[in-house]
Amino acid sequence: MIDDFKKSLYIGGKWLKGESCIANTNPSDIKDTIGEFAQASSKQVQQAIDCANLAQPAWENTSLEQRQKILHSIGDEMIERCDELGTLLSREEGKVFAEGRGEIYRAGQFFHYYAAEILRQIGDIANSVRPNVAVEVTREAVGVVAIISPWNFPTATAVWKIAPALAFGNSVIWKPANLTPASAVALTEIIHKKGVPQGVFNLLLGSGNTVGDALINSPKIDAVSFTGSVDTGRKIAVATAANFVKCQLEMGSKNSLVIADDADINIAVESTVIGAYSGTGQKCTASSKLVVMSAIYDKFIDALLKKIQTIKVGHALDKNSSIGPVVDEKQLMSNLDWVDKAKKEGAELIFGGKKLSLEHDGYYMEPTLFINTKNEWSINQEEVFAPLACVIKVDDFEEAIKVVNDTRFGLSAGIITKSLKYSTIFKQKIQTGCVMVNLPTAGTDYHVPFGGRKESSFGPREQGQYAKEFYTIVKTSYQKSF
Ligand code: NAD
Repeated sequence: MIDDFKKSLYIGGKWLKGESCIANTNPSDIKDTIGEFAQASSKQVQQAIDCANLAQPAWENTSLEQRQKILHSIGDEMIERCDELGTLLSREEGKVFAEGRGEIYRAGQFFHYYAAEILRQIGDIANSVRPNVAVEVTREAVGVVAIISPWNFPTATAVWKIAPALAFGNSVIWKPANLTPASAVALTEIIHKKGVPQGVFNLLLGSGNTVGDALINSPKIDAVSFTGSVDTGRKIAVATAANFVKCQLEMGSKNSLVIADDADINIAVESTVIGAYSGTGQKCTASSKLVVMSAIYDKFIDALLKKIQTIKVGHALDKNSSIGPVVDEKQLMSNLDWVDKAKKEGAELIFGGKKLSLEHDGYYMEPTLFINTKNEWSINQEEVFAPLACVIKVDDFEEAIKVVNDTRFGLSAGIITKSLKYSTIFKQKIQTGCVMVNLPTAGTDYHVPFGGRKESSFGPREQGQYAKEFYTIVKTSYQKSF
């Protein structure tokens, strides 16, 4: 466990205090303060940028096996300590322990996967169009990568950037969200112990407007990888373009799950509950739009309502809880405003919609379900990021496809069906980066690409071998033989 929370900046291989501190509170129990965490000064941001620039060339030239061993051992420790670190993550973020533990375990798997990728150093060789000239196409590190991550998957989203960045020989400056600093310090402690050279990995805690802004506007950063909201992503795209800095943005979404007329009702209900309510609905891949074909509508809504009644909202570390609180008071207030807005738009509330007062004072909200909603309403067009789903009834499959695609987002979409025709056409016509058949819209693998379309993503894909498009730069060398 972390001993000294005040030492929460890690710059040039040293733990440092910041210029101020912020308190980190448990959203399941606001009387539980997890710790005070440092905020970096602008001088410390520049210090980290200088350290990362200085350290990067030697890291890129470190032997492949040494880099592989370091990354693999970071993964080992995360997996060995997933109960303890999962508890910490759940305590500060509010997702239930099974999800907190699962996130740490998954982060360990990312380190293992990219450790193996380090040894896959395969380039291309070609004959030139000119006689006696050979061409080599190789990849090199981009340089210094700034990683800016959100609070909802505080460890996993960061690690699926940190692991490939380090694997391909880059140095890293990580700015996590201010709501989840403890998990960031815990991961940094592991990275520190495993022999990553000084300056190759740096942790800066602080707000987006100060630390984040300084990073994205720095000409001494070579690439910025970001996960978070569309508004912040847009700012990052503009700032990095001004300095021709490479950027990769994974942003919000509004994901649909279609319940086709031939759906297996148990799979439909199970996938809806996992997609819409797990993680307290605070997932970029959450199924917040349920597009239900009229022939199965009554049967599905009856079964779903029965299942929602069994969802137990409670303290994230209570083993009986199915979902925890939302992350903070601001998020809770925003969710309740959305409930009012949806009612005003004409939506019919059939479950939940209210704040819950439980044994511990926390930011608890009932799982919420609206029916009789229209796709053009703002409740179905904006990302709400709450345990809240809206049902849109459609006449047929063609209308379902139109409703799914009628959005400015494009991260994930799913269909529950037994029909090969429906599933095949769905995979072809849907304008999202991830498509799920008979699965929840949330829940992806680590060895294959992840990302979206439209306003959900910008730049190269993350994860799997596709990550090298962002974390490396291609060099084409020509050599004439005499
Ligand atoms: P956010 O945009 O408020 O913050 C994300 C990160 O950006 C934080 O570290 C924050 O401090 C930083 N930031 C804020 N303003 C900044 C600025 N001006 N310059 C630089 N950095 C700045 O998002 P959030 O509330 O932390 O996370 C929720 C959002 O993340 C949702 O929209 C969700 O859909 C999205 N998300 C997307 C994915 C994905 O893979 N597509 C995954 C998880 C979360």
